[in-house]
Amino acid sequence: MTVALAALVPGALLGWAVYAVVGGGSGGDDPKEGASAGASASVSSSSRAPSSAKASPEPSGTKPSASATSGAPSASAPPASGPLKGKVVVIDPGHNPGNFRHTAEINRQVDIGTNRKECDTTGTSTNGGYTEAEFTLDVAHRMRALLEAQGATVKLTQDADRPFGPCVDERARIGNKAKADAVVSLHADGSGAGNRGFHVILPGAVNAGAADTRAIVEPSRDLGERIAGNFVRATGSAPSNYVGGGTGLVTRKDLGGLNLSTVPKVFIECGNMRDSKDAAQLTSGAWRQKAAQGISDGIVSFLRG
Ligand SMILES: [Zn+2]
Repeated sequence: MTVALAALVPGALLGWAVYAVVGGGSGGDDPKEGASAGASASVSSSSRAPSSAKASPEPSGTKPSASATSGAPSASAPPASGPLKGKVVVIDPGHNPGNFRHTAEINRQVDIGTNRKECDTTGTSTNGGYTEAEFTLDVAHRMRALLEAQGATVKLTQDADRPFGPCVDERARIGNKAKADAVVSLHADGSGAGNRGFHVILPGAVNAGAADTRAIVEPSRDLGERIAGNFVRATGSAPSNYVGGGTGLVTRKDLGGLNLSTVPKVFIECGNMRDSKDAAQLTSGAWRQKAAQGISDGIVSFLRG
């Protein structure tokens, strides 16, 4: 195993400047949402430090600023009067547990501005059969509780309350119609064993057909950096060792859910379901609570400015 140090984007972070990336980087598998391999682009302004030097991930216990949110949502101010009063957060749990039974419907092509793409996909699963759709819903529920405790109005794009989908274009429209202050689409990746860690996907600038992300690129990057930083702090997970060049940030222009958004939005791939070590985390309720806390803290930080 090699230990590499990666330094993060300056604006990103509350508690982390440095963290350890453990594991060798094998060639990058593309996240499954991207029909196009190689669409992932490493973007960031951050630098990748050479190697050596041992650093341990931030202990998950240390909580800077925004973490009035940490711990149980209990004792905090009553909903609707918290610091996020008046703010709308849309959580988009990726895929849908029912998609597996509706392949014809989800394979329908929809217009994502830049091109056409499948309505939705089934998502991946761990080798043990824990599905990505179960994972994303569970984390969404945990996040909803945390964010509502801060006074935010929270809406989910789906709650397993429909047979399949919604399609990616509709997922984007739900955030737009809600005039969301922030939208996060939750996922876990289906890459090769040995590929580990999380990455946040930021919208690239596109202007084609119904897609025009130019106004959301900057705020989405801010949102994504804050989520990445808080995710590291809360979970102790390292940024992806297979995309993003160690930054945990990837910019893409091929995802309908981002291309059609008119409000700040990012995706997060919380880990790789096909890696046994990542899978052990993703299938742990305690870990998912940390993940929900980290993502929520990033949103709170973004919304409070
Ligand atoms: Zn996914």
